Amino acid sequence: MTAKPVLNERALPFDVERIRRDFPLLARKVNGKPLVYADNAATTQKPSVVIERLRHYYEFENANIHRGVHTLSAEATAAHEQARDAIQRFINARESREIIFTRGATESINLVAQTWGLRNLHADDEILISALEHHANIVPWQMLCEQTGARLRVAPINDRGEIEMEQFEALLSARTKLVAVAHISNALGTINPVEKIVQLAHEAGSVVLIDGAQSIIHCAIDVQALGCDFFVFSGHKALGPTGIGALYGRAELLEAMPPYQGGGDMIKTVSFERTEYNDIPFRFEAGTPHIAGALGLASALDYFAALDLPAVLAHEEHLLAVATTRAEAVPGLRIIGQAAHKASVLSFDIEGVHPQDLGTLLDHHGVAIRTGHHCAMPVMQRFGLAGTARASFALYNTVAEVHAVFDAIDKVLPMLRA
Ligand code: PLP
Repeated sequence: MTAKPVLNERALPFDVERIRRDFPLLARKVNGKPLVYADNAATTQKPSVVIERLRHYYEFENANIHRGVHTLSAEATAAHEQARDAIQRFINARESREIIFTRGATESINLVAQTWGLRNLHADDEILISALEHHANIVPWQMLCEQTGARLRVAPINDRGEIEMEQFEALLSARTKLVAVAHISNALGTINPVEKIVQLAHEAGSVVLIDGAQSIIHCAIDVQALGCDFFVFSGHKALGPTGIGALYGRAELLEAMPPYQGGGDMIKTVSFERTEYNDIPFRFEAGTPHIAGALGLASALDYFAALDLPAVLAHEEHLLAVATTRAEAVPGLRIIGQAAHKASVLSFDIEGVHPQDLGTLLDHHGVAIRTGHHCAMPVMQRFGLAGTARASFALYNTVAEVHAVFDAIDKVLPMLRA
């Protein structure tokens, strides 16, 4: 982080108060105090356009999609496919059939593991991940290794929470069939050098999956420019609904992949003798999908795309800079994750204070942070901790809220240390 903390947010070229008005939940009180929502890495709040989109669908458009001959079904089908187009545009995929709707990042990774992975991995092949992955980008690969006899290799991270790129490179070999790395670490905030990772992996002949769960609205995403083979994200961390997300896959790879789950919609014809599977993307979307969720996600991404992205990112960087300055002034506080390139995630440990006790007391002040292992136990082990406290900020957070988090920490610390 290089940005200097500026305490006057009017100086910033970003009207955060206007943005906040789009998010009704931010106006509520918690425990009698104005809510300070600093748990955005877990899930983001939703703008009114998304809430309204869900309501409108159920109030006026609800019908099952595909094959319906009646008007409502045709309209819902068209809206669902337009939502796919919105995602394609947002991440700049070449074609909308490269977008598979899933329940989120976790399901997207499991889909790749159980289709592409089962088809392409064999005993002694290797999957290379990093030591800062979320469990969702570890466990599906461990399961695949159990099924295939492949091996999981892990590139270490340094004390700042950055991937040791020399060691990453050294671990790549002709045996590496897949590299799967987070774009941004949810536990540390590290922004990984994904362009370099994709380039190195491809030079080694490996396929690359980027876990974009934390980057989707905290970086510019362009899957063609990045050149990754798979990219996954969840709607709920991108201002959209829960239960919906996407898998991007390059068409050539998706076309060669067997189906994920069997059922309606993923077939062309079924008989007891032989079933012919559908084309992509439908081959991977068995059963009635989360139609409202897809529409809500498209609204969320359209909403975000209409904002000035550099201004959003500068705002978030500024919030992190202010938070870091305040954190450094707290006696006994150690910031966990000091990467040169960081998103607006501040993980920390305070000597003698259990993160859960801290989180509970902050809640009394209306401050929502997350505590624990953040589904990244190996990261915690790396830093010799059971868990951390984590404040994570998004576009609608204010500098005043960052101060409110640390003012509340200053207030509760004497109690926790007594
Ligand atoms: N990957 C990362 C980096 C995450 O932060 C998360 C959620 O916190 C996931 C994957 C899993 O996301 P979901 O639970 O929405 O599937």
